[in-house]
Amino acid sequence: MNALNADLHCHSTASDGTLAPAAVVRRAHANGVDLLALTDHDELLGLPEAMTTAAELGLRFVPGVEVSVSWLDQTLHIVGLGFDPSNGALIEGLGKVRGGRDGRAVLIAAELDRIGIRGSLEGALSYAGNPALVSRAHFARYLVEIGISKNVHDVFLHYLARGKPGYVEHVWATLEDALGWIKGAGGLAVIAHPGRYRLSHAEMDILFDKFRDLGGDAVEVSCGAHDGGQVLAFARLARKFGLMASRASDFHGPEDSPIDLGRAPPLPQDLTPVWSQLI
Ligand code: AMP
Ligand code: MN
Ligand code: MN
Ligand code: MN
Repeated sequence: MNALNADLHCHSTASDGTLAPAAVVRRAHANGVDLLALTDHDELLGLPEAMTTAAELGLRFVPGVEVSVSWLDQTLHIVGLGFDPSNGALIEGLGKVRGGRDGRAVLIAAELDRIGIRGSLEGALSYAGNPALVSRAHFARYLVEIGISKNVHDVFLHYLARGKPGYVEHVWATLEDALGWIKGAGGLAVIAHPGRYRLSHAEMDILFDKFRDLGGDAVEVSCGAHDGGQVLAFARLARKFGLMASRASDFHGPEDSPIDLGRAPPLPQDLTPVWSQLI
């Protein structure tokens, strides 16, 4: 079961990826992925095209989404997998989360304007494949285009991360809502890239405990954001809290991602892969 090449987290132009859903699926297939989930931020728009392409190629595909959540003073991402994409409460909830993005984009552009960077709202929109889903990643690509930084990573470091001049605080979904929507639509809920959150050990334990109490299923142990030590650390937490484990590239595009589709390291052998519940 662990030998299956599963990639359960990636993005298309329906959110902040650079490839269309069909191209993401074709690339996953070419890379030897056996089971794929497309997990655009707060958005299900790419799923029909991805499902059709996966069916044509004979690639196993499950619907996915990556929900933006505010918890304590942090933004967390919760991945939903294998839900019913026609579920009304899920669709309505994600619509509300997306709805906050337009106003936030205007505020980000105003902050960048204050430090002399003009036209960033139009610039970000020119990179957004889905105008309802403007992400900081779109701002970052525009800032690279106009020569503010040499790459997207540096833009985040100096302009778009918390504490930097183009960062705007935003309230996303609650953890309770995100779990409610995913579980209510018959899906599995997964904590995305926990190594990226600035939480103490005690806070991480509280998050895992709360997540499990709310019906959460799994945690990304192997993912593009984790080094080898973090894979082992989150494997330990998965065991401690009785959660399944997921494997995730978090691919956003050939130029934009540290690892390609299907190339995350294998899961430690003793963990139960979340895909045991999906196939
Ligand atoms: P948003 O949901 O609009 O706040 O944008 C978050 C997205 O920005 C993430 O999903 C990544 O695609 C991208 N991102 C966040 N932090 C970084 C970083 N340090 N380097 C590159 N991309 C990042
Ligand atoms: Mn993203
Ligand atoms: Mn994420
Ligand atoms: Mn992601």
